[in-house]
Amino acid sequence: MSEPLVTRVAPSPTGDPHVGTAYMALFCFALSRTTGGRFILRIEDTDRTRYQADSESQITESLHWLGLDYDEGPDVGGPNGPYRQSERTEIYREHVQRLLDSEKAYRCFCTSERLTEMRHAQRARKAPPGYDGLCRGLLPEDIEAKVADATPYVVRLKVPKDRTIGFIDELRGKVEIHGKEIDDQVLMKSDGFPTYHLANVVDDHLMEVNEVVRAEEWITSTPKHVILYEAFGWDLPRFRHMPLLRNKDRSKISKRKNPTSLLWYKANGYLPEALVNFLALMGYSGADGEEMFSREQMLADFDTKRMSTSGPVFDLEKLGWLNGEYIRADSEDDLARRLLAHWAYRTSTGHEPDPAVDGALYDWITRNGGFESDSVETLIRATMPLVQTRIKTLEEYAPLTRCFFLDDIRGYGPEDLVPKKRELDATKDVLRIMRTKLAGLEHWTTSSVEEALRALVDELGWKPRELFQAARVAITGSKVSPPLFESMELIGPATCLERIDQALDL
Ligand code: GLU
Repeated sequence: MSEPLVTRVAPSPTGDPHVGTAYMALFCFALSRTTGGRFILRIEDTDRTRYQADSESQITESLHWLGLDYDEGPDVGGPNGPYRQSERTEIYREHVQRLLDSEKAYRCFCTSERLTEMRHAQRARKAPPGYDGLCRGLLPEDIEAKVADATPYVVRLKVPKDRTIGFIDELRGKVEIHGKEIDDQVLMKSDGFPTYHLANVVDDHLMEVNEVVRAEEWITSTPKHVILYEAFGWDLPRFRHMPLLRNKDRSKISKRKNPTSLLWYKANGYLPEALVNFLALMGYSGADGEEMFSREQMLADFDTKRMSTSGPVFDLEKLGWLNGEYIRADSEDDLARRLLAHWAYRTSTGHEPDPAVDGALYDWITRNGGFESDSVETLIRATMPLVQTRIKTLEEYAPLTRCFFLDDIRGYGPEDLVPKKRELDATKDVLRIMRTKLAGLEHWTTSSVEEALRALVDELGWKPRELFQAARVAITGSKVSPPLFESMELIGPATCLERIDQALDL
């Protein structure tokens, strides 16, 4: 077993909580849990121009929803806080001073006009972009004079230009780049705020992170980080760059092509277990190549050798399939409770029901005592055998089951009720006979109802499909519904007969 790994996920609170954050968090979680280490959430909020106030709470909510609980973080505390970078600026300032004192970094007084000109000139010469090092050679007295004048400056990393910089990536092996190709990275901006590179390295070190897990897009930053670790005289952590999640066309995952917000998945009725399983598949394969495994199963025999670097495609259809599998794997009681909790959550986040989709359900719940009411739970529970195999997300429940919750199902027309090649009058005759037959049933069960309707098929010479269409539309209001006979049992004789009467009034 490896040493206890301390990992962290370090999202920037700049928008909706991203699926990529959960993907990284899952692997951080697995690496730390299976080695007896720790997993930290750090909020990298130094970019104040892109900062969004609700973003942090959405990140923590999403990670808790997924069960990716961290041992240390802004909302749970811990010995290495604060866990928001904006509250650590003093720490960064001290560290920058250390680098200046040891001449591993230098002040750069170049104005933005000069830097723009420099870039234009580089482009014209087709030279690679990057700072030309003008301020690297400033004399101490020049620096002192400018500082005394309050000339604005940034602090840059003094990249060694005479050697290669290398590190081992746990997934890819040795990565090397020559110092000449690395820009003298800005470490602290003129407003005194650190850049990502400085804050990230200082925090990873102070928080004792010994395995840095992050997306592959950061791999070009890592050599700069290696230089920083060396400059401070710190041991390098291990680095593991995970393959980027991709859209179907293999471009980097983007919200134009895929929902990327974790809260979208929550609101749309995806189960956290399914999403976690799906994200695991993006970078890991099950022991015998199986696709469905719980987080616990994943942790039980977690093996970093099964982590891969191939660009995983975030395929919503596959997630839908997996989600359906998890819905089917739930017990009926659990699924009913999960649905109620889901609708309560939707309501608490301001969801406005749509009359054509889920209005009937929400109205019915309100009329019957709300999400906590036992009678509500009982009926929802009773519908489970009819729907559990037919929905892939929790949101698909309401449109499928409108017939159980609507007071008035009218709204269909003869074109729905009357089978092709049959007339309205003939259809009504059939429904009339059906009504009499049903009204005479001694017991109202799925099988007695089915028996009665099948007998009518033989008696009337209609095809089963035709007769059941007329019955289905009359009783459920729609050509698509859960299974007819089971639905009729649930709706009950009085309502079924009343609905047939309404059809006869068409
Ligand atoms: N703040 C960076 C991000 O938003 C963190 C990258 C890293 O893990 O080093 O992805």
